[in-house]
Amino acid sequence: MSTISFFYTDKFQNYNLGLNHPLQPIRIKRTYDLLNELGTWESIDVHNPAPCTREDMKDIHSDEYLSFTEMLSNGQRPPSYRHYGFGTPDNPVFPGMWESSLLYSGASKNAAEAVIDGQRLAINISGGLHHAHFNGASGFCIFNDCVLAIKTLLKKFQKVAYVDIDVHHGDGVQEAFYKNPQVLTISIHETGKTLFPGTGFTEEIGAGVGRGYAVNLPLWPYTDGETWLHVWKEIGFKRLQAFSPDVVVLQMGADAHILDPLGHMNITGSYWLEAIRDVKTLELPMVALGGGGYNQTVVPLLWSMAIMELADLQLPYDGLWNKLEQEESNPLNYPTLIGNEDIQQDATKYANSYAMHMVKECQGILRQWLSGNDRILDKIEMNH
Ligand SMILES: [Zn+2]
Repeated sequence: MSTISFFYTDKFQNYNLGLNHPLQPIRIKRTYDLLNELGTWESIDVHNPAPCTREDMKDIHSDEYLSFTEMLSNGQRPPSYRHYGFGTPDNPVFPGMWESSLLYSGASKNAAEAVIDGQRLAINISGGLHHAHFNGASGFCIFNDCVLAIKTLLKKFQKVAYVDIDVHHGDGVQEAFYKNPQVLTISIHETGKTLFPGTGFTEEIGAGVGRGYAVNLPLWPYTDGETWLHVWKEIGFKRLQAFSPDVVVLQMGADAHILDPLGHMNITGSYWLEAIRDVKTLELPMVALGGGGYNQTVVPLLWSMAIMELADLQLPYDGLWNKLEQEESNPLNYPTLIGNEDIQQDATKYANSYAMHMVKECQGILRQWLSGNDRILDKIEMNH
């Protein structure tokens, strides 16, 4: 038996928001098929996930929202003055959305339980739907499986770190644990000034006894990979080490990649993977989740490479690198860049210098409130 579990079923395809929606569930199957071709399942156990229950969701979403979702999913049109986020282009109503949402969430709960039972790594790439709120659907997300995984882990572990490298702010997860010092949430993302959901600024650091247990690293469009990685290492990774968690939940949103059609970052795969490698160096039990990622060629490559890194697999890795580099270097993949190279270079220069300023600001904010908490302050300074 392996010490790594991967939760998968073709039924993940039923979380289908429509043909023209950016979130296409085929990316999950493509990743599974690619990992299968590479022979990954000789080293990782694949399990069929069990859907979670309404009972599992009762502290994570409001009763009214759960009832409303179930009724909509069954084709009913419940009378309500609220729409709970549904009926928008981002969150259209689709048949069977109740069952398929319980399924991807159940897979994240299963992954957390596998880690509780002693697995060193448990993976659910259909999860990572970090925008769902207590009282509503948001940003392609219906249930917040990240919150469910963290709450499950808290039954055994004292300190849980949530690391979110998706290009969008992990707002739903931050909101759920904003006053909880047992859960550190770290999100590095494109600034809310230019991208959904419009939150995740440096001043959002938690509240009450949870102050200091939320970290936000917002970056301007066109920030390059080197700068993104510097910000992550200088603030995100150091804060993560100082927290000294018992277990990590890693949201591996792949939409920070330069070829993603929704995000605007200039980050190639090598930098994104380096952040994942950093989290792995902590050698802690981990639940790894999917997340955003809308380039159907790039996402299966990035997720497969991330899983191979996390699982220490010596499989034909070079072939994946070559494919990724071909995509990243193909000028046909950058049609809007032609003739605008200078403008983009200026934008990157501006974004990079903003990021350096932001690192200093974050250090200042952290030191200021951490002065009352010597233990954590010592660790932060030790890491400098
Ligand atoms: Zn995203």
